[in-house]
Amino acid sequence: MTYSPAPGKRRPVAILGATGAVGQTFIRLLANHPWFEVKEVVASERSEGKPYREAARWIDGKMPESVADLIVQPVDPARITSSIAFSALDSSVAGDVERAFAAAGKFVLSNAKNFRMDADVPLVIPEVNADHMQLLDRQRKERGWKGAIVTNANCAATVAAVALAPLEEAFGIDRLFLMTMQAVSGAGYPGVPSLDILGNVIPYIADEEPKLEREMTKLLGRYADGAIQRAPMKVSSHTNRVAVEHGHTVCITASFRKPATVDQALDALRSWKGNEATLDLPSRPAHPLVVADEPNRPQPRRDVDAGAGMTVTVGRVRPDPILDIRMVALGHNTIRGAAGGSVLNAELLAVTGRLGDA
Ligand code: NAP
Repeated sequence: MTYSPAPGKRRPVAILGATGAVGQTFIRLLANHPWFEVKEVVASERSEGKPYREAARWIDGKMPESVADLIVQPVDPARITSSIAFSALDSSVAGDVERAFAAAGKFVLSNAKNFRMDADVPLVIPEVNADHMQLLDRQRKERGWKGAIVTNANCAATVAAVALAPLEEAFGIDRLFLMTMQAVSGAGYPGVPSLDILGNVIPYIADEEPKLEREMTKLLGRYADGAIQRAPMKVSSHTNRVAVEHGHTVCITASFRKPATVDQALDALRSWKGNEATLDLPSRPAHPLVVADEPNRPQPRRDVDAGAGMTVTVGRVRPDPILDIRMVALGHNTIRGAAGGSVLNAELLAVTGRLGDA
């Protein structure tokens, strides 16, 4: 499967919530993208009407010149000409805004929680469940939208799902226990006050545990006859905010439906390539999942940028005396767990022809 727009013909896209932590990551990732070009930026009334360079408090590195002078637009689809909208909107507004954009014919790729669990909305990590995009046929039929909404998952759920997809495929997961240590950039900008988090661990992230538990079973579920059959596993989680800049670490303990040794689990993890339909996508890392052999890895400082932030690293794969195995997974929350995941979804939609003329 190949896709290549004519040279100089990158598709114009809008970024909704362009000023926030994930919005800025979209802008960095799309600055030199071969297929998409950021032409419009959208944010709240606080930012509307200002040049992007003034509205956004730029967090990492240097703001790309190509967006610096764009004027921030309001969340009104009638004011936006791009047919593709990457959304990094706060969930308090994402529901109404993304619905309005889809109804107005825009293809929305959302990072917000609002539509993720709707039965006709794909919740996609391309290497794991690209076939879930077939829900779009049902969505178009049932909602009568000219556009569409595709979502990517909660950032911690994304890391866990990439790490667990090979084990679910090979052995079937029965019971799953997840304990996270989540970076401050996962709380957006300005996020958690420094006096709350420096030298501290906060054992509560609002709504995070329910999101993680319900999204895992949809992500690892199977598409059949216009619906997702949720993966039949029991999931329990603890989520914690820690004083790390980028990178969510997830300690995982799992039992399987089919007996598996640690060596068999390691073989499954090491040999997993992810869905073949994604192999040529520009944002797909060479290895979506790598196994670290060192006993003290993965670590955010050393491993978060693996595969330009798109690779999930697992390590410490070992037997568990209560369930079957335990291991540690790490991934970049604003790249693999947010903007990078959305861009990969858009690339998958482009190569499969689902973006149409959008
Ligand atoms: P953030 O830094 O707080 O940014 C929120 C964005 O939403 C800003 O651009 C803000 O614009 C805009 N916004 C807020 N209220 C608005 C309103 N009433 N009308 C229009 N725009 C409004 O948050 P974030 O971390 O980037 O997260 C963005 C979304 O991605 C959230 O839904 C979050 O749950 C999800 N997500 C985040 C991560 C992560 O690692 N951070 C990972 C996965 C998913 P102004 O600057 O003008 O206020």
